[in-house]
Amino acid sequence: MLTLSTKIEQLKKVGPSYLKRLKQLKIKTIRDLFFHFPHRYDDFSQIIPISQLKKGQTATICGKISKIKTSQTWQKRMNITEAMIEDETGTIRAVWFNQPYLVQTLSQGKIVNLSGKVTFAGKTLCLSNPVYELVRSLKVRPFYYNLFNKKVVVKRSDLDYLDFTHTGRLVPIYHETAGLSSRYLRYLIKPLLFLADKIADFLPDLIKKEFSLVNLNQAIKQIHFPDNLQSAQAARQRLGFDELFLIHLFTLKQKQKLAQEKATTIPFEEKLIKSFVKSLSFKLTDDQRIAAWQIFQDLAKPRPMNRLLNGDVGSGKTVVALMAALETAKAGYQVALMAPTEILAKQHFQTSKDFLKKSNLRIALLTRTETKVRPFDSTTLQSKVVVKRSDLETSISRSQLKKQISQGKIDIIIGTHAIIQEDIAFKNLVLAIVDEQHRFGVEQRAALQRKIKRIEDGLLTTPHLLSLTATPIPRTLALTIHGDLDISLLKEMPKGRQKIITKIVVPADRQKTYNFIKKQVKQKKQVFVICPLIDESEKLSARGGLAFGSEIKSVTQEYEKLSQKVFPKLKIAMLHGKLKPKEKEEIMKKFKQGKTDILISTSVVEVGIDVPNATVMLIEGSDRFGLAQLHQFRGRIGRGPDQSHCFLFTDSKAKKTYQRLKAVLKAKDGFELAEKDLKIRGPGDFTGIRQWGLPDLTMASLNDLELIQKTRLAVQQVLENNLLTPVLEKKLKQFQKLIHLE
Ligand code: ADP
Ligand code: MG
Repeated sequence: MLTLSTKIEQLKKVGPSYLKRLKQLKIKTIRDLFFHFPHRYDDFSQIIPISQLKKGQTATICGKISKIKTSQTWQKRMNITEAMIEDETGTIRAVWFNQPYLVQTLSQGKIVNLSGKVTFAGKTLCLSNPVYELVRSLKVRPFYYNLFNKKVVVKRSDLDYLDFTHTGRLVPIYHETAGLSSRYLRYLIKPLLFLADKIADFLPDLIKKEFSLVNLNQAIKQIHFPDNLQSAQAARQRLGFDELFLIHLFTLKQKQKLAQEKATTIPFEEKLIKSFVKSLSFKLTDDQRIAAWQIFQDLAKPRPMNRLLNGDVGSGKTVVALMAALETAKAGYQVALMAPTEILAKQHFQTSKDFLKKSNLRIALLTRTETKVRPFDSTTLQSKVVVKRSDLETSISRSQLKKQISQGKIDIIIGTHAIIQEDIAFKNLVLAIVDEQHRFGVEQRAALQRKIKRIEDGLLTTPHLLSLTATPIPRTLALTIHGDLDISLLKEMPKGRQKIITKIVVPADRQKTYNFIKKQVKQKKQVFVICPLIDESEKLSARGGLAFGSEIKSVTQEYEKLSQKVFPKLKIAMLHGKLKPKEKEEIMKKFKQGKTDILISTSVVEVGIDVPNATVMLIEGSDRFGLAQLHQFRGRIGRGPDQSHCFLFTDSKAKKTYQRLKAVLKAKDGFELAEKDLKIRGPGDFTGIRQWGLPDLTMASLNDLELIQKTRLAVQQVLENNLLTPVLEKKLKQFQKLIHLE
């Protein structure tokens, strides 16, 4: 007895090799099969008498095979199968290439449907590589012939008892990944579809009615084998609605849950903040003020903050975060600031010491390799006549530091995820700040929350969480997968930033750019070179979707070329993800200290590092990167007083590529580019989104603001009216498992 949960290996049509391929797509049960949707249809629904076929038309014919043979062309060793098919009205030739096994199925006298595009070979009508399907039921034959004699075009809708699978209908086309053909999937899925009626519909009737949605079983059947385009559309609407609905339900429930937890309130200290702002060497932007104000209001509430500070590279997120840290630490509580790399953590330690110089707070650095504190005993500071910056920190043993943290002697702890990995007990952690939050996996973020909760158990409070990211988040994503967060935006850049000169460089101008780089290095400036790949071995897999002849640059190859041929006298280093963390840090450190002239890197360099002396960013194969990503790379330069240049190299001659890259020249900020990216490339290219492992359909819906708003409304109705049924809860759990967020 088949059920929705029947494992696919129990199906006769699934042998060991297909089983492997299906499992690659995470299809384990019949239910999973049903939720593997086609991405489009071939419209073969018109069944037309042969004499009425027109050139260029896509159609299905039905006739008898009068001849069929297979032969080999001696030149190309290609196998050709040729057949003649006739109905009452005429004859048509059909040709297939390299499908010798066809003659096992198709033989003289058999009646077949053939679907495809009609062409002419000389004066004869011809179908080239048509999709075929045997018409087994002879009962339908007279019916056809009658109609043919009257020269009526038969539409599938008139023939609903003729239930074809591969021809004579809207035929589903699936993404042919993992070596699974659409034909096989159709053959597998279609006879099982009656089981769709067993699927529990988890959407409340009220919602279905209000948003005009078809039932789930109907939608599943129709998305695979639709009666017509309208019903395929309706099915897609329903299923697209479902997934967004579940994402909202997940994120809004998270939000609700958090809202019920308790947190320590930090009242706003106007005097403290005013004097901090006064101490800065610059004026805060309006966006920084607004963001800080939103954070202060969150901190003053007895519920945990969960806010994302989203601002372009260089928009000044750190200082805003430090204001929150200052207020919390001054109120007598601990703050943790976590960064994705050691270099960034060190950079933050340095910045915090500078910005919070007058605060007399106790700040510590904790990474895998280093532990330092800024002395907190102000008398030691004052006793020195001249205080050099290097004197402001002392090394401390790891165990000492841990002890001091647990005793509450450290106010602000800055570090990598060593902070959460090691057994560190905070005394009273009230604010956690996560920089470049998208760099931490979903799991690591969850671990942070778990860890903090465990620590805070005694106090029965949850700390406030402030996340920082420079990845611009389009509105649609802010409402969906980031829907549990409150978001503060820094759209405005600090005044007086130099505009970076950005140019698109075609191959002919490559040498000119190299000459320019030589001059820059002579002036003691530094250069980034970004390549899409690490080494040759990556090329094969990357080449798949590429135009022939296009050359994708790799880090190792460029390193060889630049260090041996182009710039033999310059100091060049390379950086990529296959290096050990230690090596990476060492290379970055040298670059930061100006010991390297040119750093060739993959996209790993994207994240928050500050090298003000770097003034040139050269991006190879720039058409292969997302626009927002290019913008992020460019954000690595233009940080010092000197004019910076960004060169977007491309071999592509396509006009589209050029226009896309031009957007990087014109856009006023990363948000604009992110919105464009989302439209052109889809959400998959946004950092962190792949981790969700969302199904294709959801990915597509993440672009649809109208649907997003509708589904959000629906979820709000469900939550407000207590429509959360057990079936719905169960579905939500399954969904959470699917997107790895359990
Ligand atoms: P990001 O948002 O990319 O993390 P940072 O916080 O590192 O940016 O800030 C980039 C630089 O801009 C720092 O050197 C910081 O001190 C400086 N900065 C921040 N805010 C302002 C401002 N309002 N005016 C001028 N410079 C600022
Ligand atoms: Mg930063």
